[in-house]
Amino acid sequence: MNYLKETIDSLNKQLASGELSAEKLTTDTVANIKATDKQLNAWITVYDAAKPAADLDFAKNRLAGIPIAIKDNIVIDGMRTTAASHILDNFVPVYDATVITKLRAAQATFVGKTNMDEFAMGSSTEHSYFGATHNPWNLDKVPGGSSGGSAAAVASGQVVAALGSDTGGSIRQPAAFNGIFGIKPTYGRVSRWGLIAFGSSLDQIGVMSKRVRDSAEVLNVISGYDEHDSTVSEKAVPDFTEFLDQDVKGLRVAVPREYMSDSVDAGVRTAVEHEIDVLRQAGAIINEVSLPHTKYVVPTYYIIASSEASSNLQRFDGIRYGYRAKDAKNLLDVYVKSRSEGFGEEVKRRIMLGSFTLSAGSYDAFFRQAAKVRTLICDDFDQIFADNDVILGPTTTTTAFGIGEEISDPLKMYNNDILTISANLAGLPAASVPAGLTGGMPVGLQIMAKRFDEGNVFKVADFIERQNKFYEAKPAGMED
Ligand code: GLN
Repeated sequence: MNYLKETIDSLNKQLASGELSAEKLTTDTVANIKATDKQLNAWITVYDAAKPAADLDFAKNRLAGIPIAIKDNIVIDGMRTTAASHILDNFVPVYDATVITKLRAAQATFVGKTNMDEFAMGSSTEHSYFGATHNPWNLDKVPGGSSGGSAAAVASGQVVAALGSDTGGSIRQPAAFNGIFGIKPTYGRVSRWGLIAFGSSLDQIGVMSKRVRDSAEVLNVISGYDEHDSTVSEKAVPDFTEFLDQDVKGLRVAVPREYMSDSVDAGVRTAVEHEIDVLRQAGAIINEVSLPHTKYVVPTYYIIASSEASSNLQRFDGIRYGYRAKDAKNLLDVYVKSRSEGFGEEVKRRIMLGSFTLSAGSYDAFFRQAAKVRTLICDDFDQIFADNDVILGPTTTTTAFGIGEEISDPLKMYNNDILTISANLAGLPAASVPAGLTGGMPVGLQIMAKRFDEGNVFKVADFIERQNKFYEAKPAGMED
């Protein structure tokens, strides 16, 4: 079973009519993943024992019997969850994340866990204990990260939709690099209970799919109040599919000049400008604006995210979870050896940076300062949204780079996130929708909106998708 041409709707119809059985869909999906994943390495664990829920109700549950890929930092009861780390490589959770509980209630099927950068720290899925994932458009290129496994799984047709997580761009950047749609909802729209924490004030679970509608359908299921996560909003969740098939006449679109500067590759800029023109011709009002604090977002984010990570990752002590060093002589030795051997280089770099920025002598100069700049960045957005409905620009400054090209230069890797990080710092909903190809590789158009206004994000993404029909393109790197 290859999903390149399928959607949730087409599968639901085939399942409801009996043309396709859910058992066959599951076994074929697993078989196809096993065959194609030799090239891609998009999965860390594939469940041979995966089976659809009993008593599937295809009329009531649109996702019934449909396999959804889950990033390997979201826990599933009884199924190994590693966060792509050696320290958790034998960790089997004893509960379901809230998003999994909700997907189970909707009768979706789980066939395994997708590859990622260790603890979601990275922009290329090269920082995985289980090896790098390859981009289906060109196997020598990275799929982006950290949700690179979920993105490659969707782009190659292994699954119709996947969950990812986004702390600074980890859904949108891989979506852009793989020519698919990916949405990070508003902070507080989706429960983080059962998401292995990276930066708790930034993390959100979101959806990746080839088609915009499919993400709207999955987001409908996973959103909403959760008593386990006090940061989830009690706001009513609209039906996101109601924002599809709308026109964009009169929609106020802001384009920040900092997002269209010379630091963005010309081919990426041209593709994005073309989509903005399409919106203009359809009656949208395009306003050039400024996000003056853009130059501070990378340092601000890396201080806040690393500070939160250093605190969140304290729990991995060799005692409570996962890997424990064999030859420890005393308690301190257990901590030091287990963590030294269990964490990869990038994770250790973040823990050291975060411990430093939170330490008594540097807290004021770094963490407190970053928190203040974060407020200024939020203010920039509030000002723009006073007169605009959405903000558009490129998702990334370049298309997918080569495997091995940036891995030894952390600062270069961090700068990849300059266009995506702000939405996390400000808690905004943001998505990437395909905007064509340049040099044979996909380009992403980023759409941001006010907090809890995913509706306008879907409206614009769906409009762009209907115009450019990028989903008809087949990833060039995949064999027939
Ligand atoms: N690339 C960013 C980082 O390394 C964002 C990661 C993410 O969104 N999880 O921190």
